[in-house]
Amino acid sequence: MLFLEQNDFSFIGNIILAILLFGVAFLFFLFVRKIITTILDGIEMVYALFRKRPIFIHFYVFKRNLSNEQTKILEDEFAFYRRLDSKRKSYFRHRVATFIKRKAFEGKKEFEITDEVKILVAATATMLTFGFRNYLIGYIKKILIYPTEYYSRFSKTTNKGEFNARLKILVLSWDNFIEGHKIEDDKLNLGIHEFAHAIHFNSIKSEDINSILFVDTFNEIRDMLSSNTELKTMLINSEFIRSYAFTNDSELLAVIIETFIESPRAFKMLFPDIYVKVKQMLNFNFAGY
Ligand SMILES: [Zn+2]
Repeated sequence: MLFLEQNDFSFIGNIILAILLFGVAFLFFLFVRKIITTILDGIEMVYALFRKRPIFIHFYVFKRNLSNEQTKILEDEFAFYRRLDSKRKSYFRHRVATFIKRKAFEGKKEFEITDEVKILVAATATMLTFGFRNYLIGYIKKILIYPTEYYSRFSKTTNKGEFNARLKILVLSWDNFIEGHKIEDDKLNLGIHEFAHAIHFNSIKSEDINSILFVDTFNEIRDMLSSNTELKTMLINSEFIRSYAFTNDSELLAVIIETFIESPRAFKMLFPDIYVKVKQMLNFNFAGY
């Protein structure tokens, strides 16, 4: 009897010891992981200081895909996707599928959320962040879609779209979204405009390398325009970038990104110094840019 009791105690002791050892090993693992990620982040910071981009963009342990019907919508209706090579097309589909899975879509005023709606909205976000490693824009949790212009309780105005950072909501009116999407070279694109606002806010609040480069490079554009009045006057007088851009800094950012995506050749020819900076903000090294 006494022998058994001793055995029982040693059994409990062994369990406690195993839990303690496991705890110590787990803490050691977290510590080593922290050291490794800090070293890797440091290496990437130095790399980005010179190259102005992350070391790598795409790394996926598991890749999602879209259905054949969804892929056909991309092929038929999204020119940026059509221009990618087959490897990048598979990355793009993975990102669109992940975006759709992670974000809630809600139709307002009886607007129906179809596959086409989800694909075109997700593809617009995916295009803008395709040069980013962290592409999900955490400050968007929900996408609300109205059939047409709507009255916003937040701004107390009639809007075509808006980004609400506090509620993590992006709002779009579908007729305006489609018009901006279909006419590819008029430098007006509601989807790009609102997602640019969301990416701007998200980047200010984030510490990954793309976000840092996005914000720092935009600040360089702002400084360039405030110190070089000749350039700013040229930009305003050219009417190449619509006057709404000069409302405030965040509209300047959204409008120059709309202009960059829709009219890259003219942008590069007329304002090469600003063009290069926008390309760097988005890390946009794709065909046509
Ligand atoms: Zn705006």
